[in-house]
Amino acid sequence: MIDPWSSAVLDYEKLIEQFGIKPFSELLPEVDNPPILMKRGIIFGQRDYGRILKAMHEKSEFAVVSGMMPSGKMHIGHKMIVDQLIWYQDHGADIFIPIADMESYSARNIDFEDSKELAILEYLTNYIALGLDFKKKNIHCYLQSENRTVQNLAYLTGKKVNLNEMRSIYGFSGSTNISHLYVPLIQVADILHPQLEEFGGPKPTVVPVGPDQDPHIRLTRDIAERFKNKFNFIAPSSTYHRFITGLTGDKMSSSKPKTAIFLSDSPEIAEKKVKTAKTGGRESLEDQKKLGGMPEVCVVYEMLLYHLVKSDQKLEKIFNNCKNGTMMCGECKIQASTMMKNFFEKLSKKRTDAEGEARKILSEY
Ligand code: SF4
Repeated sequence: MIDPWSSAVLDYEKLIEQFGIKPFSELLPEVDNPPILMKRGIIFGQRDYGRILKAMHEKSEFAVVSGMMPSGKMHIGHKMIVDQLIWYQDHGADIFIPIADMESYSARNIDFEDSKELAILEYLTNYIALGLDFKKKNIHCYLQSENRTVQNLAYLTGKKVNLNEMRSIYGFSGSTNISHLYVPLIQVADILHPQLEEFGGPKPTVVPVGPDQDPHIRLTRDIAERFKNKFNFIAPSSTYHRFITGLTGDKMSSSKPKTAIFLSDSPEIAEKKVKTAKTGGRESLEDQKKLGGMPEVCVVYEMLLYHLVKSDQKLEKIFNNCKNGTMMCGECKIQASTMMKNFFEKLSKKRTDAEGEARKILSEY
């Protein structure tokens, strides 16, 4: 069972085997100009992504749905979602961003007003600062608690699923509160509502998620099928990305500040945090020169791979220099922390400008 509300580290290979997620690498040759998250295997799995590629090739309508649950600060790992949204925006997708304040209330006990404020100050401000363009007409951002279309559709979907099914998918027990039981249906409606007539009717839709969110995808795909006659929904496609490792070597998590570089950190703090990250270095310099480092298990290397080094050649050089023992962790960390500092200097300037626009989004778009 996968629990979307826990933060367990998952075995990606097992997920592919057990839940019928297909390797993304099978489709990679068909993606024109893939972003680094696809090229470098960070997006590792997919369901029915072929229909999204077809829509992109034919320049026909398709949608992307990616929700945010305002429950804490955004960290560098969350940037992956924004990077994907920007890429899809550039490829003509209709973008839907539900703000999951109903989920925040049920699963994290956060009031709607607090969720809204957190969504504006933390999430939307960062989304804009990272480059997502909310001024384009094909972008829809809303609070679940204020979207009657989504709420009505969620109510209808409830008719197509029973309690036993919800228990077997999510592990709900007799003590689960009823609001929490209802949350997955709101998410199903978030994902399916872009296919309603008022948004242009049935269309391929992709949901880029971490693998912990797969239960929602499976439920939505089943419900889409059960509503085939009424709405003619196309089962949503999905992609799955790896989680970024935290500074300590565990999963990066907003609720564990020691593991995370937050997007609201100052450039100096971000720089310092990189220097504290767990590496794949050996016990001694002598061993590292002789045996080489282990970039495969190095948090610093992961930051370079996911975010900091755009050039594949440059990244390959760092990998090789690490493996053959010609580069030591001290030098490597200085380079990586400088890159992180530079990135955060630009980001924090943009964040200051973005806050005003973020505040307007929920009332204007
Ligand atoms: Fe990681 Fe760099 Fe050390 Fe290699 S040299 S283990 S990439 S910090």
